[in-house]
Amino acid sequence: MGALSPILRSIEGGRVMFFCPGCKSAHAIPVEGDRAWGYNGNSEKPTFTPSILVTHHHAVPPVTPENLDQFKAAPWAQTRVTDICHSFVTDGQIQFLGDCTHELAGQTVPLPNLEG
Ligand SMILES: [Zn+2]
Repeated sequence: MGALSPILRSIEGGRVMFFCPGCKSAHAIPVEGDRAWGYNGNSEKPTFTPSILVTHHHAVPPVTPENLDQFKAAPWAQTRVTDICHSFVTDGQIQFLGDCTHELAGQTVPLPNLEG
């Protein structure tokens, strides 16, 4: 486990992790075991197949110290929003498909260096 290259790190569970510039967070992909993604083994210019689909949820508006009392009185005023990140990683480039909900939808950018 540990850094495989500036952009790719191996983590527990036979997975590798990269930083997604669309979500501004890390995504982990299994590369060992029955449910593994295809991986070209090149940590400098990784290719994963098939595409990577990540969905997560957040609630709006966010709870802040200023609206906490209001939120406690009416928690149903929050709406659950689904975030979608759908990408192909090819030769170290991440291609974001059009169904992404973040600002990089439809764009292809290099995988950034991992921090820390
Ligand atoms: Zn993402």
